[in-house]
Amino acid sequence: MEEEIAENCRICDEPTNLKWPTYIPDGLDSDCFAITNASYGQTSAIFECGSCGFRQCNNLTEVLSFYEELEDPGYEKGRKERSLQAAANLRHLAKFKPGGRLLDIGSGIGILVEEALKMGYEASGVEPSKWLQKQAGNRNLPVIWGTLDDIPGTEIYDAIALIDVLEHVLKPVDLLAQIRNRLTPDGIAMIVTPDYKSLFGRVLGRKWWHYRVAHIGYFDKKTLRMACDKAGLEIVDQKRPGWHFTAEYLWVRIMLYFPKWLRIPSFAWMTRKVIPINLHDSLMVVVKRSEDQ
Ligand SMILES: [Zn+2]
Repeated sequence: MEEEIAENCRICDEPTNLKWPTYIPDGLDSDCFAITNASYGQTSAIFECGSCGFRQCNNLTEVLSFYEELEDPGYEKGRKERSLQAAANLRHLAKFKPGGRLLDIGSGIGILVEEALKMGYEASGVEPSKWLQKQAGNRNLPVIWGTLDDIPGTEIYDAIALIDVLEHVLKPVDLLAQIRNRLTPDGIAMIVTPDYKSLFGRVLGRKWWHYRVAHIGYFDKKTLRMACDKAGLEIVDQKRPGWHFTAEYLWVRIMLYFPKWLRIPSFAWMTRKVIPINLHDSLMVVVKRSEDQ
């Protein structure tokens, strides 16, 4: 039995209590952090804040090095559906900020940056995985290796995208505050993160697909709003984003919920069929700098 690490809530600073013990049968390595890793339900111990309900992994306090070494060839395979996804997110962002300088934090192989450039944004990105950043570079996409700290403090943006990143970071409020400081006075940021209090999050419990090693913080509507407030960001729009998956991706992942002897392999046509789907289990907020800060 591992030692439980006492740590206060990363959002409201109240004490946290153990919710679920660690379950990582094969040990921890960079593969666990792959975007396409399908080992759902495998996480470091999850603690829940007694006050605001935020869930966090107190025992995983150094995750950046895993991302730096991460290689994820399966991610490139999903380029088509990820491009559709990025374009859909950008169309929503464009309602609030139709052009200008855009930064994508956690760019992966640069798909959102590529779509944003097509839409006329002056777009760039930053990505902590050397391998993913290199894939973006191979396509001549302006993605630098590192985190927001690696971008000179004088660089500010009209729009910042933080898509499925907040749940991976150790200090979410600090990251949001940093983002606030990188926005032009009328700049906006778009944030997407899973909602553990969504229907699927509640019904599937620990087996929900977003419970995975790489996710060390779990938000719901309330705690996401609290985190934004603390960081000096005001929510101007909130919705539940849909996703684009290939039929194969969905099939393989649904089959993981069946016992092995009942699983049916995917069919060839499934890799070509892209399905838009809204599971209503993520949150998307558009934020601006609060007036009073
Ligand atoms: Zn809390």
